[in-house]
Amino acid sequence: MKISSAEFVMSNSNVAKCPNEPLPEYAFIGRSNVGKSSLINMLMDRKGLAKTSGRPGKTQLINHFKINNNWFLVDLPGYGYARVSKKDKKTFQKYITEYFQKRKQLVCGFVLVDIRHDPQPVDLEFMEWLGMNQVPFAIIFTKADKLKPAVIEKQANAYLKKLTDSVWEEAPPHFTTSSSNRMGREELLEYIEAINQD
Ligand code: GDP
Repeated sequence: MKISSAEFVMSNSNVAKCPNEPLPEYAFIGRSNVGKSSLINMLMDRKGLAKTSGRPGKTQLINHFKINNNWFLVDLPGYGYARVSKKDKKTFQKYITEYFQKRKQLVCGFVLVDIRHDPQPVDLEFMEWLGMNQVPFAIIFTKADKLKPAVIEKQANAYLKKLTDSVWEEAPPHFTTSSSNRMGREELLEYIEAINQD
């Protein structure tokens, strides 16, 4: 998919106030510092579109970007950041939960995980919750440039095995990416395009 336009539309913390348009939506979420903003900027080929987090946990809003005038990319706040207060965590949980449960336009959630890390309880629990709520999702492994090619596949397979050894019958769709060398960009955009054309 060629990205001919990518425009910021709005930020808010209220699902009811998200854009009132029937366009399909793809939401990106993951732990703070996982590389979400960098990935979004790399996918869209726009340097400053998503704000890379100098201060993790700061972008606590639902951010809508309209892409090619025919779909929305939704940048959701990073989770699992220790320095966020309990109250903020609760508020955050409430609207993220609502977003996934209520947003009819949502087609797929992309859960980002750093390929270097072993499966973390907070990510596994979140994926399990998505599954229980019948939210389709895919995994995006980030920062693959930090590993040697042979290790990339090994690490990804170990992660997926952990999922299929626990609650999942099948591994979800998954992508291996790097914002530094643009690995995975075409695959991910093609995946979105294929769903949009269905
Ligand atoms: P966010 O908090 O999830 O939005 O993460 P950011 O996009 O702000 O990235 C967090 C840190 O990881 C920054 O220092 C980025 O430069 C770095 N980073 C993000 N993606 C990559 C990547 O693909 N490769 C490498 N080597 N570093 C990355």
